[in-house]
Amino acid sequence: MATWCCVKQCGACCHLDPAERPDLETYLSSEELELYLSLVGEGGWCVNFDHATRECRIYSNRPRFCRVDADVFQEMYEIEPEEVNDFAIDCCRQQIEGVYGDRSLEMLRFDREVGI
Ligand code: SF4
Ligand code: SF4
Repeated sequence: MATWCCVKQCGACCHLDPAERPDLETYLSSEELELYLSLVGEGGWCVNFDHATRECRIYSNRPRFCRVDADVFQEMYEIEPEEVNDFAIDCCRQQIEGVYGDRSLEMLRFDREVGI
């Protein structure tokens, strides 16, 4: 069975371009939506994303909507805990495909590391 994990040298989910996430207001509160939009920087990337390391500069203080966590997923997407793994894998694959492409090295690395 594939097991979700966040792989190094990715960062696809830090590409926040709202044009690619049309349903934001359905799972973010109005305060979170305001925060989300305030983070969108050049090219749609989060202002906290370090492009050199592909890591978050505020990782321990990142917003709720950046966290892969059973409670967060239940609150935001009404996903049951037993579905979190598959849902997170699908979210990552969608995001990686959109940002880097479905045959990108990032996708190959993700699939290999999660066991697809
Ligand atoms: S898209 Fe997934 S694997 Fe890539 S950085 Fe985000 S959580 Fe990690
Ligand atoms: S706050 Fe950090 S984890 Fe969240 S989108 Fe920005 S760089 Fe990524």
